Amino acid sequence: MELSHRTVTLRLAQPFTISRETSTEEEVVWVELRHDGATGYGEAAPQPHYGESAESASAFLEEAGHLLGEDPFALEEIGRRLAERPGEMAAKSALDAALHDVCGKVVGLPVWRLLGLEPVGPPTSWTVWLGDPDDMARRAEDVDPRFRRLKLKLGGRDGLDVERVRAVSGITDLPLMVDVNEYWEIEEAIENISALAELGVEYVEQPLRAGSPDGPRLKRESALPIYVDEDCHTLADVAACAERAHGINIKLAKSGGIREAVRMATAARALRLGVMLGCMVESGLGIAAGCQVASLCDHVDLDGNLLLAQDPWRGVEFRNGVQVPSEAPGLGVYEAVPDPR
Ligand SMILES: [Mg+2]
Repeated sequence: MELSHRTVTLRLAQPFTISRETSTEEEVVWVELRHDGATGYGEAAPQPHYGESAESASAFLEEAGHLLGEDPFALEEIGRRLAERPGEMAAKSALDAALHDVCGKVVGLPVWRLLGLEPVGPPTSWTVWLGDPDDMARRAEDVDPRFRRLKLKLGGRDGLDVERVRAVSGITDLPLMVDVNEYWEIEEAIENISALAELGVEYVEQPLRAGSPDGPRLKRESALPIYVDEDCHTLADVAACAERAHGINIKLAKSGGIREAVRMATAARALRLGVMLGCMVESGLGIAAGCQVASLCDHVDLDGNLLLAQDPWRGVEFRNGVQVPSEAPGLGVYEAVPDPR
Protein backbone atom coordinates (compact mmCIF):
# COMPACT_ATOMS: atom_id res chain seq x y z
CA MET A 1 0.00 0.00 0.00
CA GLU A 2 1.23 3.46 -0.87
CA LEU A 3 0.64 6.27 1.64
CA SER A 4 0.88 10.04 1.21
CA HIS A 5 -0.27 12.94 3.38
CA ARG A 6 -0.59 16.72 3.39
CA THR A 7 -1.42 19.38 5.99
CA VAL A 8 -4.42 21.62 5.31
CA THR A 9 -5.85 24.61 7.19
CA LEU A 10 -9.62 24.60 7.72
CA ARG A 11 -11.16 28.03 8.31
CA LEU A 12 -14.12 28.36 10.63
CA ALA A 13 -17.15 30.43 9.64
CA GLN A 14 -17.13 32.03 13.14
CA PRO A 15 -14.43 32.12 15.85
CA PHE A 16 -14.92 29.12 18.11
CA THR A 17 -14.54 29.58 21.87
CA ILE A 18 -14.53 26.90 24.57
CA SER A 19 -13.32 27.11 28.17
CA ARG A 20 -9.64 26.66 27.32
CA GLU A 21 -9.19 28.43 23.96
CA THR A 22 -10.51 30.43 21.02
CA SER A 23 -9.67 29.51 17.44
CA THR A 24 -10.48 30.73 13.95
CA GLU A 25 -8.81 27.91 12.03
CA GLU A 26 -7.63 24.35 12.57
CA GLU A 27 -4.84 22.39 10.94
CA VAL A 28 -5.71 18.88 9.81
CA VAL A 29 -3.73 16.25 7.94
CA TRP A 30 -5.28 14.40 5.01
CA VAL A 31 -3.98 10.95 4.12
CA GLU A 32 -4.31 9.16 0.81
CA LEU A 33 -3.79 5.40 0.63
CA ARG A 34 -3.48 3.62 -2.71
CA HIS A 35 -3.98 -0.12 -3.06
CA ASP A 36 -4.81 -2.25 -6.08
CA GLY A 37 -6.37 0.60 -8.10
CA ALA A 38 -8.44 1.92 -5.16
CA THR A 39 -7.66 5.14 -3.28
CA GLY A 40 -8.76 5.61 0.32
CA TYR A 41 -8.85 8.90 2.22
CA GLY A 42 -8.73 9.83 5.88
CA GLU A 43 -8.37 12.94 8.01
CA ALA A 44 -6.38 13.52 11.19
CA ALA A 45 -7.57 16.32 13.47
CA PRO A 46 -4.66 16.41 15.96
CA GLN A 47 -5.42 17.86 19.41
CA PRO A 48 -2.84 20.11 21.12
CA HIS A 49 -4.65 19.38 24.42
CA TYR A 50 -3.54 15.76 24.01
CA GLY A 51 0.01 16.63 22.93
CA GLU A 52 -0.64 16.27 19.20
CA SER A 53 -0.08 18.68 16.30
CA ALA A 54 -0.16 18.60 12.50
CA GLU A 55 3.66 18.27 12.69
CA SER A 56 3.62 15.33 15.10
CA ALA A 57 0.84 13.61 13.12
CA SER A 58 2.82 14.09 9.89
CA ALA A 59 5.99 12.75 11.49
CA PHE A 60 4.07 9.67 12.62
CA LEU A 61 2.58 9.16 9.16
CA GLU A 62 6.06 9.46 7.58
CA GLU A 63 7.23 6.43 9.49
CA ALA A 64 3.95 4.51 9.71
CA GLY A 65 3.67 3.68 6.01
CA HIS A 66 5.63 0.45 6.30
CA LEU A 67 3.50 -0.71 9.27
CA LEU A 68 0.43 -0.99 7.04
CA GLY A 69 1.68 -3.97 5.04
CA GLU A 70 -0.05 -5.09 1.83
CA ASP A 71 -3.52 -6.24 2.97
CA PRO A 72 -5.99 -3.43 3.82
CA PHE A 73 -8.48 -5.99 5.19
CA ALA A 74 -6.01 -7.10 7.92
CA LEU A 75 -7.39 -4.36 10.16
CA GLU A 76 -6.81 -6.17 13.45
CA GLU A 77 -3.20 -6.95 12.63
CA ILE A 78 -2.49 -3.45 11.31
CA GLY A 79 -4.12 -2.00 14.43
CA ARG A 80 -1.82 -4.07 16.65
CA ARG A 81 1.26 -2.86 14.77
CA LEU A 82 0.16 0.78 14.99
CA ALA A 83 -0.68 0.42 18.70
CA GLU A 84 2.97 -0.40 19.42
CA ARG A 85 3.73 3.28 18.65
CA PRO A 86 2.42 5.48 21.47
CA GLY A 87 -0.08 8.33 21.00
CA GLU A 88 -0.86 10.12 17.71
CA MET A 89 -4.44 8.91 17.87
CA ALA A 90 -5.64 11.44 15.29
CA ALA A 91 -3.08 10.20 12.77
CA LYS A 92 -4.00 6.59 13.56
CA SER A 93 -7.64 7.45 13.02
CA ALA A 94 -6.82 8.93 9.60
CA LEU A 95 -5.10 5.66 8.63
CA ASP A 96 -8.04 3.62 9.95
CA ALA A 97 -10.46 5.75 7.91
CA ALA A 98 -8.36 5.41 4.75
CA LEU A 99 -8.11 1.63 5.23
CA HIS A 100 -11.90 1.34 5.65
CA ASP A 101 -12.36 3.56 2.58
CA VAL A 102 -10.08 1.29 0.51
CA CYS A 103 -11.81 -1.89 1.77
CA GLY A 104 -15.24 -0.48 0.93
CA LYS A 105 -14.10 0.54 -2.55
CA VAL A 106 -12.49 -2.86 -3.23
CA VAL A 107 -15.73 -4.73 -2.41
CA GLY A 108 -18.08 -1.97 -3.68
CA LEU A 109 -19.88 -1.34 -0.36
CA PRO A 110 -20.24 1.71 1.87
CA VAL A 111 -18.37 1.29 5.16
CA TRP A 112 -21.53 1.34 7.30
CA ARG A 113 -22.78 -1.65 5.30
CA LEU A 114 -19.44 -3.41 5.56
CA LEU A 115 -19.81 -3.03 9.34
CA GLY A 116 -23.36 -4.37 9.29
CA LEU A 117 -24.78 -1.07 10.55
CA GLU A 118 -27.64 1.21 9.57
CA PRO A 119 -26.71 4.46 7.83
CA VAL A 120 -28.94 6.79 9.83
CA GLY A 121 -28.18 7.61 13.46
CA PRO A 122 -29.58 10.21 15.88
CA PRO A 123 -29.71 13.90 14.87
CA THR A 124 -26.54 15.89 15.45
CA SER A 125 -26.47 18.72 17.93
CA TRP A 126 -25.32 22.21 16.92
CA THR A 127 -22.65 23.73 19.14
CA VAL A 128 -23.20 27.18 20.64
CA TRP A 129 -19.77 28.47 21.67
CA LEU A 130 -18.99 29.95 25.02
CA GLY A 131 -19.86 33.65 25.31
CA ASP A 132 -21.88 36.01 27.47
CA PRO A 133 -25.41 34.75 28.25
CA ASP A 134 -27.08 37.30 25.91
CA ASP A 135 -24.62 36.59 23.14
CA MET A 136 -25.18 32.82 23.42
CA ALA A 137 -28.95 33.34 23.34
CA ARG A 138 -28.60 35.51 20.22
CA ARG A 139 -26.51 32.89 18.48
CA ALA A 140 -28.94 30.13 19.53
CA GLU A 141 -31.74 32.15 17.95
CA ASP A 142 -29.88 32.22 14.61
CA VAL A 143 -29.37 28.45 14.44
CA ASP A 144 -30.23 26.71 11.16
CA PRO A 145 -33.81 25.41 11.75
CA ARG A 146 -32.81 21.95 10.54
CA PHE A 147 -30.95 21.33 13.83
CA ARG A 148 -33.01 19.42 16.38
CA ARG A 149 -30.80 19.85 19.44
CA LEU A 150 -28.22 22.26 20.85
CA LYS A 151 -25.00 21.74 22.76
CA LEU A 152 -23.94 24.73 24.85
CA LYS A 153 -20.29 25.24 25.73
CA LEU A 154 -19.92 26.28 29.37
CA GLY A 155 -17.00 26.79 31.76
CA GLY A 156 -16.81 30.60 31.71
CA ARG A 157 -15.24 30.72 35.20
CA ASP A 158 -17.41 33.77 35.99
CA GLY A 159 -20.35 32.25 37.90
CA LEU A 160 -22.63 32.80 34.88
CA ASP A 161 -22.85 29.27 33.46
CA VAL A 162 -26.41 28.65 34.70
CA GLU A 163 -27.40 32.10 33.38
CA ARG A 164 -26.05 31.12 29.96
CA VAL A 165 -28.36 28.11 29.86
CA ARG A 166 -31.31 30.12 31.24
CA ALA A 167 -30.82 32.74 28.51
CA VAL A 168 -30.74 30.12 25.75
CA SER A 169 -33.66 28.09 27.14
CA GLY A 170 -35.69 31.32 27.12
CA ILE A 171 -35.49 31.59 23.32
CA THR A 172 -35.64 27.96 22.12
CA ASP A 173 -37.64 24.78 22.68
CA LEU A 174 -34.88 22.57 21.27
CA PRO A 175 -33.46 19.89 23.62
CA LEU A 176 -30.30 21.21 25.31
CA MET A 177 -27.13 19.58 26.57
CA VAL A 178 -24.05 21.29 27.96
CA ASP A 179 -20.31 20.67 27.74
CA VAL A 180 -18.16 22.13 30.52
CA ASN A 181 -14.79 20.96 29.12
CA GLU A 182 -13.45 20.13 32.62
CA TYR A 183 -14.00 23.59 34.16
CA TRP A 184 -16.13 22.96 37.28
CA GLU A 185 -15.06 21.90 40.76
CA ILE A 186 -17.17 19.31 42.57
CA GLU A 187 -19.34 21.60 44.73
CA GLU A 188 -20.22 24.01 41.92
CA ALA A 189 -20.87 21.03 39.65
CA ILE A 190 -23.46 19.55 42.04
CA GLU A 191 -25.11 22.95 42.51
CA ASN A 192 -25.05 23.98 38.83
CA ILE A 193 -26.33 20.62 37.64
CA SER A 194 -29.35 20.85 39.99
CA ALA A 195 -30.19 24.23 38.46
CA LEU A 196 -29.67 22.89 34.92
CA ALA A 197 -32.02 19.97 35.67
CA GLU A 198 -34.74 22.49 36.48
CA LEU A 199 -34.07 24.24 33.17
CA GLY A 200 -34.70 20.95 31.35
CA VAL A 201 -31.11 20.22 30.26
CA GLU A 202 -30.75 16.56 29.21
CA TYR A 203 -27.18 15.76 30.24
CA VAL A 204 -23.83 17.30 31.14
CA GLU A 205 -20.56 16.55 29.38
CA GLN A 206 -17.24 16.51 31.28
CA PRO A 207 -17.99 18.86 34.18
CA LEU A 208 -14.84 17.91 36.15
CA ARG A 209 -11.26 17.77 34.98
CA ALA A 210 -10.21 14.41 33.56
CA GLY A 211 -9.19 11.99 36.29
CA SER A 212 -10.71 14.08 39.08
CA PRO A 213 -11.02 11.97 42.26
CA ASP A 214 -14.48 13.55 42.74
CA GLY A 215 -15.88 11.79 39.66
CA PRO A 216 -17.57 8.88 41.51
CA ARG A 217 -19.17 11.26 44.01
CA LEU A 218 -20.55 13.43 41.22
CA LYS A 219 -22.05 10.37 39.53
CA ARG A 220 -23.86 9.53 42.79
CA GLU A 221 -25.06 13.06 43.54
CA SER A 222 -25.66 14.58 40.10
CA ALA A 223 -29.23 15.52 39.20
CA LEU A 224 -28.47 14.82 35.52
CA PRO A 225 -26.61 12.12 33.59
CA ILE A 226 -22.88 12.81 33.22
CA TYR A 227 -21.08 12.00 29.97
CA VAL A 228 -17.28 12.00 29.91
CA ASP A 229 -15.17 13.11 26.95
CA GLU A 230 -11.66 14.16 28.09
CA ASP A 231 -11.79 11.18 30.51
CA CYS A 232 -12.45 8.61 27.78
CA HIS A 233 -10.13 8.03 24.83
CA THR A 234 -9.91 4.32 24.03
CA LEU A 235 -11.41 0.98 25.03
CA ALA A 236 -8.99 0.77 27.98
CA ASP A 237 -10.68 3.83 29.58
CA VAL A 238 -14.29 2.67 29.36
CA ALA A 239 -14.51 0.50 32.51
CA ALA A 240 -13.14 3.30 34.74
CA CYS A 241 -15.63 5.74 33.17
CA ALA A 242 -18.50 3.59 34.44
CA GLU A 243 -17.50 4.62 37.98
CA ARG A 244 -17.65 8.33 37.20
CA ALA A 245 -20.23 8.72 34.45
CA HIS A 246 -23.50 7.56 32.94
CA GLY A 247 -22.14 7.71 29.41
CA ILE A 248 -19.05 8.22 27.27
CA ASN A 249 -18.31 10.53 24.34
CA ILE A 250 -16.48 8.58 21.64
CA LYS A 251 -14.47 10.54 19.06
CA LEU A 252 -12.45 8.88 16.31
CA ALA A 253 -9.60 11.38 16.82
CA LYS A 254 -9.23 10.00 20.37
CA SER A 255 -10.01 6.32 19.77
CA GLY A 256 -7.70 5.95 16.78
CA GLY A 257 -10.52 5.15 14.38
CA ILE A 258 -13.73 3.35 13.54
CA ARG A 259 -12.63 -0.10 14.69
CA GLU A 260 -11.80 0.99 18.26
CA ALA A 261 -14.95 3.17 18.34
CA VAL A 262 -17.10 0.08 17.71
CA ARG A 263 -15.30 -1.78 20.50
CA MET A 264 -15.86 1.17 22.86
CA ALA A 265 -19.58 1.36 22.06
CA THR A 266 -19.91 -2.38 22.73
CA ALA A 267 -18.03 -2.17 26.04
CA ALA A 268 -20.12 0.82 27.08
CA ARG A 269 -23.32 -1.17 26.46
CA ALA A 270 -22.01 -4.04 28.57
CA LEU A 271 -21.43 -1.54 31.40
CA ARG A 272 -24.89 0.00 30.87
CA LEU A 273 -23.38 3.32 29.81
CA GLY A 274 -24.94 5.71 27.31
CA VAL A 275 -22.97 6.33 24.13
CA MET A 276 -22.36 9.67 22.50
CA LEU A 277 -20.41 10.25 19.29
CA GLY A 278 -18.50 13.52 19.00
CA CYS A 279 -16.00 15.13 16.67
CA MET A 280 -13.32 17.81 16.49
CA VAL A 281 -13.33 20.70 14.04
CA GLU A 282 -13.11 18.49 10.95
CA SER A 283 -13.96 18.59 7.27
CA GLY A 284 -16.58 16.38 5.65
CA LEU A 285 -13.81 13.77 5.26
CA GLY A 286 -13.41 13.32 9.02
CA ILE A 287 -17.16 13.53 9.59
CA ALA A 288 -17.73 10.85 6.92
CA ALA A 289 -15.72 8.38 9.00
CA GLY A 290 -17.62 9.28 12.18
CA CYS A 291 -21.10 9.02 10.76
CA GLN A 292 -20.50 5.43 9.60
CA VAL A 293 -20.92 4.34 13.25
CA ALA A 294 -23.46 6.95 14.42
CA SER A 295 -26.29 4.41 14.53
CA LEU A 296 -24.53 2.69 17.47
CA CYS A 297 -24.93 5.84 19.58
CA ASP A 298 -27.65 7.50 21.67
CA HIS A 299 -26.44 11.04 21.07
CA VAL A 300 -24.53 12.50 18.16
CA ASP A 301 -22.48 15.70 17.98
CA LEU A 302 -21.02 15.68 14.46
CA ASP A 303 -21.27 19.33 13.44
CA GLY A 304 -17.51 19.86 12.81
CA ASN A 305 -17.75 20.34 9.04
CA LEU A 306 -20.88 22.51 9.32
CA LEU A 307 -18.85 25.04 11.35
CA LEU A 308 -16.44 25.65 8.47
CA ALA A 309 -16.48 28.67 6.17
CA GLN A 310 -16.23 26.13 3.35
CA ASP A 311 -16.17 22.33 3.57
CA PRO A 312 -13.74 20.96 0.96
CA TRP A 313 -15.33 17.47 0.96
CA ARG A 314 -18.69 16.29 -0.38
CA GLY A 315 -20.53 13.05 0.38
CA VAL A 316 -22.06 13.40 3.85
CA GLU A 317 -25.59 14.76 3.63
CA PHE A 318 -27.11 16.87 6.41
CA ARG A 319 -30.68 15.54 6.20
CA ASN A 320 -33.45 16.41 8.69
CA GLY A 321 -30.83 17.25 11.29
CA VAL A 322 -28.91 13.98 10.76
CA GLN A 323 -25.42 13.61 9.27
CA VAL A 324 -26.06 10.77 6.80
CA PRO A 325 -23.17 8.92 5.11
CA SER A 326 -23.19 8.32 1.37
CA GLU A 327 -24.45 5.12 -0.30
CA ALA A 328 -21.27 5.16 -2.43
CA PRO A 329 -18.51 2.61 -1.70
CA GLY A 330 -16.07 3.21 1.13
CA LEU A 331 -16.52 6.51 2.96
CA GLY A 332 -18.27 7.82 -0.16
CA VAL A 333 -16.59 11.24 -0.15
CA TYR A 334 -14.71 13.27 -2.74
CA GLU A 335 -12.79 16.53 -2.66
CA ALA A 336 -14.98 19.18 -4.21
CA VAL A 337 -13.01 22.39 -4.07
CA PRO A 338 -9.33 23.12 -4.54
CA ASP A 339 -6.96 22.55 -1.64
CA PRO A 340 -7.61 25.56 0.68
CA ARG A 341 -3.89 26.08 1.48
MG1 LIG B 1 -16.59 17.61 24.83
